[in-house]
Amino acid sequence: MALKITVNKSRCISSGDCVETAPAVFQLDANEKSDVVNSAGAPDATILAAARACPVKAITVVNELTGEQLFPPPKK
Ligand code: SF4
Repeated sequence: MALKITVNKSRCISSGDCVETAPAVFQLDANEKSDVVNSAGAPDATILAAARACPVKAITVVNELTGEQLFPPPKK
């Protein structure tokens, strides 16, 4: 599935959890904030696990085709 991954850099606390979970997708930039380097660099489940691993919920994952927000789960 094509995923649109965004990192809220002002929220990121540079914990590195996302990089550890999916290093081909997330890397820390020069300011030690997470950057999406390849949104197709890992299976969807791994990318979602990385988003879940973020202690401050700085990562948002959206299905690019349908626009459905996959993480964090949309409030009903
Ligand atoms: S897990 Fe969250 S806080 Fe940690 S580096 Fe990744 S985006 Fe930043």
